Amino acid sequence: MMSKLFSVQKGLRVFLLILAVVSVLSLTVSAVAESSRNKKIQSDRNKIREGFETILEELEFNGLNDSTLELVQEYRKLVGENSNLIISDDTGYVLYHVNNGFMPGTDQFIVITDPDSHYSNMAYILDPELSVRYRISLNRTYNSMKLIEYSNTYKDNVNLYDVIRRDEAYYGHSGDTVDKTMYYAYIGSKGWNVYSIQKNINYSDYEYNNWHLAVNSIGVMAFILFWLALPVWVFLDAKKRNHNPALWGILTAITNIIGLIIYILTRPENPACKTCGEPLTTKHIYCPYCGAENKQMCHSCRTILEKNWLACPTCGQKIESERPEALVIVDGLENNP
Ligand SMILES: [Zn+2]
Ligand SMILES: [Zn+2]
Repeated sequence: MMSKLFSVQKGLRVFLLILAVVSVLSLTVSAVAESSRNKKIQSDRNKIREGFETILEELEFNGLNDSTLELVQEYRKLVGENSNLIISDDTGYVLYHVNNGFMPGTDQFIVITDPDSHYSNMAYILDPELSVRYRISLNRTYNSMKLIEYSNTYKDNVNLYDVIRRDEAYYGHSGDTVDKTMYYAYIGSKGWNVYSIQKNINYSDYEYNNWHLAVNSIGVMAFILFWLALPVWVFLDAKKRNHNPALWGILTAITNIIGLIIYILTRPENPACKTCGEPLTTKHIYCPYCGAENKQMCHSCRTILEKNWLACPTCGQKIESERPEALVIVDGLENNP
């Protein structure tokens, strides 16, 4: 029965080693992939910021010409085709806009702040001076927009930027209005206002690849299995050594590797045969089950000694050599008259 336990424990040790290697490798690979994903998000955010700044420079030095509009098209590829971009002069006259427009029959201008959202989103109705007059809530279904709320009349000239920032602080927790980024700049040399409102770059836009997810799950599963199997191994090992198996099993189940290290450092010598795993008493030199040599004998007082002891604790005799062949030769000489 003991030898069966021994081979189960041996198999479990191999299993644990494989699990540890698999979990460390998989989690490392997935951490590297995660970090390169973060770098990509950061670099895309920077590209948008730089794209906006390039447009500003072009506007400042060359005004609104074909090359500026080309840059705007490049920029819209970065931020999404439904992004807002409005350029107005100091009097509020709109010089250029994409994706939002004057409302028919009025001189009001509408700005949708989260154009890519498939759900409800905020929009602002601006007067010809680009001051905010109303905030509206739109429900986007089947490519059409339905007005679901018409609120907040702004009587004084409120800047779009200020209103959106204030709303973001107020509605930010709802997640719907915070899901956008707004850039605003005033070009002093021309007296122009430039607004850019686009969907925020979110982590959810950057999906894990399938292989990345799989590797991550394998790593997590291997780690969980390792955590569950380790206490079993410690339990079996402690049982073999008659050393509080339940206590050490529970301790390792809670603290895992820390428990294992403490156990390995404090566990008593294994009394079982190192070859076949059957239990031995301290009186045995040779295993009665397989014949393997497990201990040695002091030549002067015949005390049974552990194989790695260098001196006899009974008579103080120094052990010449740990090698069993040498002991056999010395024994042979002593027994010869
Ligand atoms: Zn044996
Ligand atoms: Zn001795």
